[in-house]
Amino acid sequence: MQSQRYPQPHTQCEATPPPQVLRFLRQISDSAAGSNALDLGYAGSFLCPLLGIPRRDILQALTRILCAEPIPAILADQMRKQERGIFEAYTLSLHSPTGHSAEVQVCPRPVMLPDGSETVTATLSLAPADMERQRAVQAERDRLLGLLDRLPAFVSLIAPDYSLRYHNQTFRELFGSHPGQPCYRTLKGRNTPCPTCPPFDVFDTGSLSIYEWTNPANGQAFRIYSYPFTDEDNSPLVLKLGIDISQSKQVQEALVISEARYRSITDNLAVGIAVVDRNMRITAANPLFSQWFGIFIHDRHGPANLPQADELFAAMCPPDIAERTETAEGASPGQADPESLLRSVFIYGRARDMEFSCRLFRPDDPKEEEGIRTLRITACPTRDASNAVDSIILLLEDITERKRVTEQLNRARQLEAMGTLAAGIAHEINQPLSALRLYASGLELLVEQQHAISQDTLLERLGWILREAENIQEIIAHMRSLVMQQDAPPIGRASLNKAVERALGLVGAQLKAHGIQLDLQLAPDLPCALANIVQLEQVVINLVVNAMHALDTIDAARQTEKWIRIVTEQTESGSLRLRVADNGPGLQGLEKRIFDPFFTTKDAGSGMGLGLSIVHTFVEAWHGEITTLPTMQGIGATFIITLHAADTTAGDTDAHTDS
Ligand code: ADP
Repeated sequence: MQSQRYPQPHTQCEATPPPQVLRFLRQISDSAAGSNALDLGYAGSFLCPLLGIPRRDILQALTRILCAEPIPAILADQMRKQERGIFEAYTLSLHSPTGHSAEVQVCPRPVMLPDGSETVTATLSLAPADMERQRAVQAERDRLLGLLDRLPAFVSLIAPDYSLRYHNQTFRELFGSHPGQPCYRTLKGRNTPCPTCPPFDVFDTGSLSIYEWTNPANGQAFRIYSYPFTDEDNSPLVLKLGIDISQSKQVQEALVISEARYRSITDNLAVGIAVVDRNMRITAANPLFSQWFGIFIHDRHGPANLPQADELFAAMCPPDIAERTETAEGASPGQADPESLLRSVFIYGRARDMEFSCRLFRPDDPKEEEGIRTLRITACPTRDASNAVDSIILLLEDITERKRVTEQLNRARQLEAMGTLAAGIAHEINQPLSALRLYASGLELLVEQQHAISQDTLLERLGWILREAENIQEIIAHMRSLVMQQDAPPIGRASLNKAVERALGLVGAQLKAHGIQLDLQLAPDLPCALANIVQLEQVVINLVVNAMHALDTIDAARQTEKWIRIVTEQTESGSLRLRVADNGPGLQGLEKRIFDPFFTTKDAGSGMGLGLSIVHTFVEAWHGEITTLPTMQGIGATFIITLHAADTTAGDTDAHTDS
């Protein structure tokens, strides 16, 4: 309530407002008649929101509005009429300096006072035209308030005296409806303001504040945005918008836990893990990787400080060590060092791995070098939203020990194989050697006893000796082709069909003589295989002759039709397949032994047990595979050889095919 007395030195009016204005102010004042004090209690509460003026300033503001030069004509006119005893309602247009304007209807009324004197009072109401506008404003306001009520966030307005001037539906649901109650009681159940209150600071700073708050009553978490706001009467308020972030907080917490779990896994793995970005910077690494390479990842000072993977590998894997890498298993040409491997993964977007030798620090003492170790590095690409490779995950495994054990094992296997081979050679050569010795000592005895030998006998005995020597030579030749890998002819494009045709050119007649039907199923337009054509021909001969021998063992009395089926085809994966099957007695459980050198079930003299082991050696040298099928009813043995295609073009009759 304001009760003031003119003149007021701080108004823009002259010291005393014009009499018409003063009379009007008295008419709308609540002060007792005859009093010079002006109290715009009732009129003020009506005019303040309309003109956007705080209550305490309304008298000065209204006076200033009415004192504008000239004073409103209607006011001057009406005052004159009232002097003549004419009292009629009139509309006053008010324009406040805050930009608000209102059409106010003034209804003056003469009133008789108890002492018999007369005075005039005036009531204020909205002019009919303004009421329309006000109704529209109210409808808009209701619409906005309805919208705020539907927001899935709480909205409230706080006054400097902590009172809640407004709260939306969500606020009411969350904290109840307590009009006029201070915010600290409604929100926190306190009797005094909180010692620190970020939203309240907005009154001082006049700028947005954001903070997170968890309701201790139920653990619900909110992110609260506080903005400076002004009330209808221009007084300052704070608008609070609270968004429930409980769920995202829970997800965040779960993420932190799962991240910690995965981090503890990667931290404790005996594998070095690092992430490399497109600029070859190591953006993350687990402790083992960091210790091995003596690096420290700190991206707080910007990416420029992150270690470079290319520089790191170049430093830890200098050329003298890198030479070992070139020969290391898994390294393909153009990918002889880890840096090239990383570049090829960025270019082709496919995971790659290789072995390389590297100088490492000791994980337990980063200042001590552990020496040169062999690492298997696997580089897996990761992609961004546009499917481009944006980084690589590196897995590094120290395989030094495993390699050493494998090498020892291989050496032991080689020794074992050499032992088997030596025993086989001894066994095979022993027989012709004994015969040779026998013939030679026979000759010696003859010379001793008869002093002279007939030329025929001598020639006959020398013939025997030479035949046995040839046998020994033949065994050694077989052995050479089996063990002397460096003598192996080059691998190239070899036509399966051509190899089959050539082999049959040599043994086909024998098959006929042995009463064997030949079932040839050669696929036309077959691409060339990766092999050696001469050896491939030997392979076919070996398999066909073995089948022929097996069929020879079938009892003629059984009168079964004997057949050998040879099939060539291309598999769905593109590799080439040769199948040689017969309806002989089958492998009879000997599948695991038939590829061993010198394993034979044939009589001494008719088999050396080297055919299949040679076939096996050839196929392995071509990186192919030889398998057998289990014996089925009516079908004896089936041998399947699978080889890589030399290229994708159909090349069965290709001029470049080995010939
Ligand atoms: P060899 O023919 O000198 O015995 P191989 O290494 O060629 O030596 O064959 C080893 C053994 O494999 C043969 O002795 C035989 O027992 C078995 N074998 C090979 N092919 C067949 C087949 N088609 N059917 C039955 N057994 C076979």
